[in-house]
Amino acid sequence: MLVNLNDVLRDAQKKHYAVGLFNTTDTDMLEAAIAAAEEARSPIIIGTAEVLLPFGELKLIAPSIIAAAKRASVPVVVHYDHGLTEERCMEAIELGFSSIMFDGSLGAPSENLERTAKMVKYAHSRHISVEGEIGHVGEASTGDNETNDMYTTPGEAIDFVRTTGVDALAIAIGTAHGAYKTKPKLDIERLAEIRAAIDTPLVLHGGSGLSDDDFRNVIRYGIAKVNIFTDLCLAGVAAMRDGIEEAYLDIRNRKVEYIKRAVMRKMELFGSVGRA
Ligand SMILES: [Zn+2]
Repeated sequence: MLVNLNDVLRDAQKKHYAVGLFNTTDTDMLEAAIAAAEEARSPIIIGTAEVLLPFGELKLIAPSIIAAAKRASVPVVVHYDHGLTEERCMEAIELGFSSIMFDGSLGAPSENLERTAKMVKYAHSRHISVEGEIGHVGEASTGDNETNDMYTTPGEAIDFVRTTGVDALAIAIGTAHGAYKTKPKLDIERLAEIRAAIDTPLVLHGGSGLSDDDFRNVIRYGIAKVNIFTDLCLAGVAAMRDGIEEAYLDIRNRKVEYIKRAVMRKMELFGSVGRA
């Protein structure tokens, strides 16, 4: 069934588990993610991100994701990740996404606040949930996670959720997008302070490549949604490598199976298995 973030994250926050967002660029990844959620009886968030659109056009992938969500036997949020422009977010809503992330974190904080608040107003009038970001989760390839001047402060978080009314908040505590060059160091103390300061479910981006203990730790200290993409790509690559001698459709099936297993592993780690 198609639901929005509020339908899954409130329960996760209350019961101290996290729901994964698994981004998909094609129907193989989509099939793998949905099959994992149904087998694990887990709620799931599926989507695509603005930076991934060159690899899977929004107008093509959106109807598949939405159809898969509607017929799934578990709650599925269809989420537009890292919407950078109002136009694209509105297009995703138009196409039937139940949730969006509006990411104004690259701009000045005051501008981020103002643009996110406007987007929330628009989305909420259509029963669409909104995730915002304060502080900035950068790119692992440029070492963005190694300096803490972009980390979220509790004061900023309080201000941001009060002004914008977002349903979920992405925070920067030491992770980055993509594959890490050096092991990330997470600021758990900062996470605990932010958790204590606000009620809004918190989101961790840049989760691929963290250790199992890192995940247990951030979930214990208040993360309710974790974004995963790179790990699924790695599973897909492993399938293609292992199936190199096979026929195209056999490689395709192997890929779905490997990605499904990678998703299920994360669901077990996040504690979302059996929650649907
Ligand atoms: Zn992200």
